Amino acid sequence: MSHDTTTHSTPALAEANRLMTVCNSCRYCEGLCAVFPAMELKRSFTDGDLNHLANLCHNCGACYHDCQFTPPHEYAVNVPGTLAQVRAESYAQYAWPSAARPLFARHGTALAIGLTLGTALFIAGFVTVGDPRALLTAHLEETRFYALMPHNAMVAVFGAAFLWMIIATFMGALAFWRDTGASGIERMDHTQATHDTARLRYLDGGGMGCFNDDDQPTDQRRLWHHLTFYGFILCFAATSLATFYHYILSWHAPYSWYSAPALLGIAGGIGLVIGPIGLLRAKRDRMPELGAQSFRGMEVGFILILLVTGASGLALRILGETALLGPLLALHLGAVLTFFLTMPYGKFVHGLYRYLALVRYARDMRRHRQGK
Ligand code: SF4
Ligand code: SF4
Repeated sequence: MSHDTTTHSTPALAEANRLMTVCNSCRYCEGLCAVFPAMELKRSFTDGDLNHLANLCHNCGACYHDCQFTPPHEYAVNVPGTLAQVRAESYAQYAWPSAARPLFARHGTALAIGLTLGTALFIAGFVTVGDPRALLTAHLEETRFYALMPHNAMVAVFGAAFLWMIIATFMGALAFWRDTGASGIERMDHTQATHDTARLRYLDGGGMGCFNDDDQPTDQRRLWHHLTFYGFILCFAATSLATFYHYILSWHAPYSWYSAPALLGIAGGIGLVIGPIGLLRAKRDRMPELGAQSFRGMEVGFILILLVTGASGLALRILGETALLGPLLALHLGAVLTFFLTMPYGKFVHGLYRYLALVRYARDMRRHRQGK
């Protein structure tokens, strides 16, 4: 199908514009999610509007199964697949710096595994060159974590990567925020968006659940997302609390299994193992037409990094008293560093952009109710 790209910068955006025009005449799906009510507020769509709608879509698949105009109908309506393509392209479009945009296309399973193992091997090699015994005997040392990588070196490397990740992610989000027309936001808009994000409200297919490989919707994808998301939050809380212990209270790692950082880390690690495994299985079984196949590698790579981070963190807790501490710590640090470095250039940004899209949606609906 050919598209008029004179008013839209890519074929995917032109196709999204065509579909939104069809859907605006039909409106059969308006109760399913936030995309259709947001669409109904407009008669024409800029690229920024379409990127907003694409990031508002949670890819539940309900509108594909409910639609009477899906292929082979001549209208060829596929809202989830088209918005998934626009959404994935929007991550690259807003990335900062612009020279890094091609990374989205290259970010895949091979890069995630290669970077994780490469960093882990570098750390292991670095330790071995300095002290050939340290990698496998570090568990015997009093300060066993820091026998592998001195605390200051760890702070310097991970602090720099974290800072870069924060700056690049912020700049990308700012570009998305400006281009999708979010302004005049009030506190209640953030409250509404936070509530909808925390519940993953629009991943429920209008109440029935997600469509995956057949006509039977289930809520399992939402469960895997929740486990992954809250697992990540708990792991982040564990690391933040450990940093507070170290610098403010001068309580140094390792911490006992019943300490607050350890309990948060164990709970988060379990979520970061079960959730990503469920997401990988759901992705394997999903109808391919519901997603953006050209960005599948980026999505799988991101889930794998989370899985390796969670699994190696849990393994450290269980096997930290054995000679495996060194290799496991190298693997864990490799996964965390890979996560930081790839975060602004991969699937991670979807959570941030979706939240910002929900904020604008809350503003638009508030203004609509107020007759503005
Ligand atoms: S997806 Fe199909 S059924 Fe739903 S609003 Fe669009 S055209 Fe109508
Ligand atoms: S796939 Fe789900 S969230 Fe996306 S537009 Fe369709 S019904 Fe809405």
